[in-house]
Amino acid sequence: MSNLLPDAGVEPPTPAPALDSSIEKLPVREVTLGQLKIRRVLPVRHRRLIGPWCFFDRYGPLTFAEGKPMDVAPHPHMGLQTVSWLLDGEIIHHDGLGYEGLVRPGELNLMTAGSGLAHAEQTPARHSGVLNGVQLWVALPAAQRAIAPSFQHHAVLPSLEATGGSITVILGEIESLRSEALAFSPIVGAEVTVHEGGRLQLPLDPGFEHGVLALAGDASLEGDRLEPDTLYYLGVGRDEVGLASRHGARLLLIGGAPFGESVLMWWNFVARTAAEIEAARRDWIEHRRFADVTAYRGPRLEAPPLSPRLR
Ligand code: MN
Repeated sequence: MSNLLPDAGVEPPTPAPALDSSIEKLPVREVTLGQLKIRRVLPVRHRRLIGPWCFFDRYGPLTFAEGKPMDVAPHPHMGLQTVSWLLDGEIIHHDGLGYEGLVRPGELNLMTAGSGLAHAEQTPARHSGVLNGVQLWVALPAAQRAIAPSFQHHAVLPSLEATGGSITVILGEIESLRSEALAFSPIVGAEVTVHEGGRLQLPLDPGFEHGVLALAGDASLEGDRLEPDTLYYLGVGRDEVGLASRHGARLLLIGGAPFGESVLMWWNFVARTAAEIEAARRDWIEHRRFADVTAYRGPRLEAPPLSPRLR
């Protein structure tokens, strides 16, 4: 995905991670990517990072008879990993390294952009006519943010049936359940299903801050009903959270150790200084650094004008 609010990450810095277990409600905002309506979950003005998670878009559920609801032309990334996760439908990824990755529900497409990699994401020609998913970005820590780019597809992720629901770990670990997906700082990402009438005590790492978004169904968190399109931020210090549902629900959990580095995000780049952003933008415009995505037919995305805040 490509960031349509390129200046969102150059807003004033996020407050320190909450050092208690109070719950903060962060409403999403709506943006449009081509014909696709997106709910932007992160960054929000007052909460730019949750652990290393720095970007979170939610789209669908939607049905379509023709065309491609997802058609994001080649665009560059730097200093981050992109995480594509679907509830329904299919997306095909192509990148400048020549990787092609079809992702389906329950599978993970993970692109580590590192020093720089361009990709395109589209609804494939053969599709089920539905689309429902999320895309998230993970900021890379200083030691790894300029590593060589790579792409991983994980067809199977660790999953367990617990009392009241089930847990699938996308990144990081929950107790003994550990994802093999490439991660560079203490992190967790998981999809949690709460069964009809179920109550689930979800184990958390008390050293992590967390965010919970309801993806489908009705759910409550510590007894309070979760509103749709609202990210619930949980500060550090919790070793579990109680989830329940009357008719069944699916939720996304993200979290990690407070990142501890101040990041500068603009468009599709995560950096530390305005000069790095400017250099990456120039390299994209001048066809350097980011190899062409040759599998995509059509023009690539143009870099937006540099934000005045970065000049
Ligand atoms: Mn992208």
